[in-house]
Amino acid sequence: MTDGEYTIADEIVARARIHARKVLDERELPVDRDALEWTVSERARRRAGACRWHPDRETATIVLARRAYGEYDWPEFAAVVRHELVHAWEFQQFGESGHGPRFRDRAAALDAPRHCRSFSEPRYVLRCRDEDCEWRAKRHRASKPVKAPDRYRCGVCGGSYEVEHVASGRTWATASGYGGAKAALGAEW
Ligand SMILES: [Zn+2]
Ligand SMILES: [Zn+2]
Repeated sequence: MTDGEYTIADEIVARARIHARKVLDERELPVDRDALEWTVSERARRRAGACRWHPDRETATIVLARRAYGEYDWPEFAAVVRHELVHAWEFQQFGESGHGPRFRDRAAALDAPRHCRSFSEPRYVLRCRDEDCEWRAKRHRASKPVKAPDRYRCGVCGGSYEVEHVASGRTWATASGYGGAKAALGAEW
């Protein structure tokens, strides 16, 4: 903090710490919080989070991207925090960390994604169907507006919108359309 100013970085760290405390207590992941540091990257463009291990101090540092905090909804960002906590746990327990079976099991127990997705490229784009309306929204996870666009409205004109799965280019505008696209893509989803 500088001059008592409460920055976005302070806010990110404060929220992440509170979330971490709650999750670690509830899900019983024995992360040593005295050997855990938090920092915010102002520059990271690709990864929403990272975890660095300092073997000399036996301390893990979780790095959270300010840009991701701005782009993600809190539940998405909180999932990144949980993902990085699993890395911190592995580092503290084993001195190394990856995305193998051990990571997968712990991540599942924490309801965290196994892979850190890049946040510059959204997974889904919501687009108003009215050609005079410019409304667009990016989503990184299959939130309710992604799964059931027929139950929600364009954020500007109140009209209907469609969702595009960016990697495949498939689009849908209804909950059943979402189900069909997901089934058709299978493993490529
Ligand atoms: Zn990771
Ligand atoms: Zn619209």
